Amino acid sequence: MALDQAEIDRRSASTVGSMRNFIDGDWRESDGGGQIEVISPGSGQQIGTIIDSSEADISAAIAAARRSFVAGHWSRMAPQQRKAILFKLAELIDRDALDLAVLGVRDNGTEIGMAIAAEPGSAAATFRFYGEALDKVNGDITPTAPEILSLIHREPVGVVGAIVPWNFPLMIGAWKVAPALAAGNSVVLKPSEAASLTLLRLAELAAEAGVPAGVFNVVTGQGATAGQTIGLSNDVDVLTFTGSGIVGRHLLRYAADSNFKAVHLELGGKSPNIVFEDCGDLEEVARQSARAAFANSGQVCVSGSRLLVQESIREPFLAALAKAADGTVVGDPLRLDSHVGAIGTKAQLEKNVRAVEQARVAGDTIVTGGEQIAGDGYFFRPTVIAAGSEDSPVVREEVFGPVLSVQSFRDEDEAVRLANDSHYGLASGVWSQNISRAHRMVRRLQAGVVHVNCYGGADITAPLVGTKQSGNGFDRSLAAIEKYQKRKTAWIRLG
Ligand code: NAD
Repeated sequence: MALDQAEIDRRSASTVGSMRNFIDGDWRESDGGGQIEVISPGSGQQIGTIIDSSEADISAAIAAARRSFVAGHWSRMAPQQRKAILFKLAELIDRDALDLAVLGVRDNGTEIGMAIAAEPGSAAATFRFYGEALDKVNGDITPTAPEILSLIHREPVGVVGAIVPWNFPLMIGAWKVAPALAAGNSVVLKPSEAASLTLLRLAELAAEAGVPAGVFNVVTGQGATAGQTIGLSNDVDVLTFTGSGIVGRHLLRYAADSNFKAVHLELGGKSPNIVFEDCGDLEEVARQSARAAFANSGQVCVSGSRLLVQESIREPFLAALAKAADGTVVGDPLRLDSHVGAIGTKAQLEKNVRAVEQARVAGDTIVTGGEQIAGDGYFFRPTVIAAGSEDSPVVREEVFGPVLSVQSFRDEDEAVRLANDSHYGLASGVWSQNISRAHRMVRRLQAGVVHVNCYGGADITAPLVGTKQSGNGFDRSLAAIEKYQKRKTAWIRLG
């Protein structure tokens, strides 16, 4: 989509006001909850409020979801009709793409050029993908003795609770909501308190598309209250989550303390991006590696935040990388000339500052960046840190910011050892013109995705899998529909 600055500016002046929850097909005031200020990270200014939901608000949403599921207006709707509604929703997202992108950028600070594709663009594609898929997922007949007919039905699980983070709310929200709805479930979604606006708008669009009341509910609020109520509910059948490991552990405990609901976790990463001496155009690989680390200010789960470069090219590569980092224009996320926007929240900005301080203390070398950019908004310079040791915190811990650690390796074996020496295993990248080496690396790396001679860009057709402590589940791909289905056996004796 060609973007026009005047169109963006016109939309960014609109007021947000006091947003309510979307429950049972309508906007609802809170029952005993409070409000949360919506602070725009690009300006540091308040642009509106969302509801800090009470337990009663969340319970009302879960009850509405259950009622709608039992009523069957969606769960038993003919698949072709459900498909038409999901297609319509994709169309409405496309219609309002720029509105959604600008609203989202005001909420979470992602640069608009990235947001337009990654948020409404990807959400529309996701609803289309699962809409197309939903009548192509069949049950089974198992081989049995002649007097038996054994049918395996696939049924929706019931009520799906979805809890998502702030970095790409629409994209990640759609990765969960679309397959859950495609399978015939009802959904209660809690966005991050730091980025709820576009998902509230998505609920409104779903109703406009024809999703029946109660089938898709969006409730805002804090994790420890609203999120916990969803997690502990005996009336939520499956929990699907993207966020930090610490919260993922809470969710597993909630499941154990309630109804043993299945919990699908997509968590953090510290993903190695490995550059071999035969990578090809060194300047270009450095530019793309900088983008892999600094796009959306590094607030990308699969961000290539741990660079491993072969010793023989370390110095020229570091120089090219620093040049790319320094040439990255960080600024107002709503300006088309900004390459990179704002850090999502003040707390996250402070985390970046602390990570650099920690690196200095650990004896690492700040190659470039390392500072907050002065002003009202939350901006941080793209930062490259040469790690002094394999145990430096900047190598081990996810910063979730524009902070890239660099280590070097001598040969393939050492690259593999360093890359896999992490409790995370989400993504990775390999840059080499040697196809055999690239395939060997794909086999040896412990990660849910290995990018070869590129970084990022995998689409809805391919799963994003969390391995090790990056999660126990996956999003995307046809197979994701099964997360929201249960199997039922009909064992029939034939007369
Ligand atoms: P977070 O874990 O702090 O919050 C995620 C969600 O959980 C929010 O909606 C929050 O309100 C909720 N929450 C917080 N405490 C809770 C509790 N006690 N009970 C229930 N819900 C609770 O994560 P974040 O800061 O929003 O996002 C950043 C993290 O997400 C990073 O670790 C990042 O790597 C990860 N992430 C992973 C992926 C992926 O696909 N693997 C994608 C994006 C982000």
